Amino acid sequence: MSTSSNGAQSVLAPGACIGILGGGQLGRMLAIAGARLGFDVHIYTPEDHAPASRVAAHTVKGAYDDLDAVRAFARGVDVVTYEFENVPVETAAAAAECAPVRPGARALEVAQDRLVEKSFLNEAGIATVPFRAVECVSDLERAMAALGVPSILKTRRFGYDGKGQARLKAGSSAEAAFAEIGAQSAILEGFAAFEREVSIVAARGLDGAVKAYTLAENEHEGGILRRSIAPTPAQARLGAKAEAIATTILTQLDYVGVLAVEFFVLAGDQLLVNEIAPRVHNTGHWTMDACACDQFEQHMRAVAGWPLGDTSAHSAAEMVNLIGEDAADWLTLAQEPQAVLHLYGKTEIRAGRKMGHLNRLKPLRD
Ligand code: AMP
Repeated sequence: MSTSSNGAQSVLAPGACIGILGGGQLGRMLAIAGARLGFDVHIYTPEDHAPASRVAAHTVKGAYDDLDAVRAFARGVDVVTYEFENVPVETAAAAAECAPVRPGARALEVAQDRLVEKSFLNEAGIATVPFRAVECVSDLERAMAALGVPSILKTRRFGYDGKGQARLKAGSSAEAAFAEIGAQSAILEGFAAFEREVSIVAARGLDGAVKAYTLAENEHEGGILRRSIAPTPAQARLGAKAEAIATTILTQLDYVGVLAVEFFVLAGDQLLVNEIAPRVHNTGHWTMDACACDQFEQHMRAVAGWPLGDTSAHSAAEMVNLIGEDAADWLTLAQEPQAVLHLYGKTEIRAGRKMGHLNRLKPLRD
C-alpha cells in the first residue's frame, strides 16, 4: 500500500514510487534523497547512462515526445515530478492522465518562456527589469530605442547558463544581434546594474504550507554559476522580502515542490526577479550539508505529500561548482577538511559541463 490511512490527503508512505522526468545531476540528487526516505525512484530519460539512472531503482529510456511511453511510465509510479524546466507541457499533461504531476503544468508554462514569466511576475506585483517582446529586427530596433543600451537580447525559450543571449552596446547592430540568437522569438531586457545576485530556494507542500531557505549570494562566470555563499551577508536586509516574493509565486502557481527564485539586488536593496526555476536549483546545493533537510529531500517530501522539513541552516556554506576540468582535482578536493565533495558520475569531462560541486562549511557565526 502506497498511501497512508491516517486521513491526510494522499500522503505517500515509504515504499511508494516516485517518478522523475529527466536523468541529470538534479535527478540523481533527488533520487538519493528519495531513497533515504524509503521511496523507490524511477527515472524517465532519453539518455543512456544518465547520472540519475546510476543511483535510481529503475530507469525507463524514452523520448519526451513518446507520449505512450510517458503514460506507461506514469502508470508505474505513484507521483511524477521533473528535474528540468524544459519538459514539454504535452509530456507533463500525458503523465498527468496516469498519475499526479507535481509541480503542475502551469509552473512549466510560466518558467519555459521568458515573456510569459516576466508578464506573470509583473501581474503579480513583482518587479523585474523592463522588457519588450521581440519577433523581428524592427521590433528589436524599437525595443532598443525604448530601453536603451546596454541591454540583453534573450531567446524566449530554451536559454540556460547564459546560452541564447546577445549583449547590446552603443553601436551594436540589431540585425547582427537577432541573427546571433538564431532569429527566433525573444525579449530585450534592460540591463540591471546590480550590486549582487542572490537567490532563494523555497518549497510549498500539498497542504499549502511554505518554507524557505536562507538566501544564497551567487557569482556567475560566462553565464554559468561559479560559487554560492549562504547565508548572504545581506540576509538580514533582504531575507524577509525575498521570502515574501517566493511565497507569492508559489501560491499563485498553486505549486507543490521546490522552486528557486533568482534576483538582482540594486542599490538601496531593491530586488528584481531575474528568473524562476520550477525545480531544485544549483544555488540550493549548499543545503545538502548545511541544513538538516536539504532541497532534494524537501522536494521529495512535498511531492509525496509529507510535511515540509526544517529549512534552518546549522552551518554557513560556500558551494563551489566543479566545471569541466575542475573535477580532475577530485583527489585533492576529497582531502579538504570541513568540505563535502559531490560528484555526479559523469564519465566524460567537457568544458562548461557541471561535473560536481564542493560544499565548504563553517560555523554559522565565527
Ligand atoms: P540568465 O540566463 O537570464 O539567468 O542570465 C545569466 C546571467 O547573466 C545572470 O545571472 C546575470 O549575471 C547576467 N544577466 C542576465 N540578465 C541580465 C540583465 N538584464 N542585466 C544584467 N545582467 C544580466
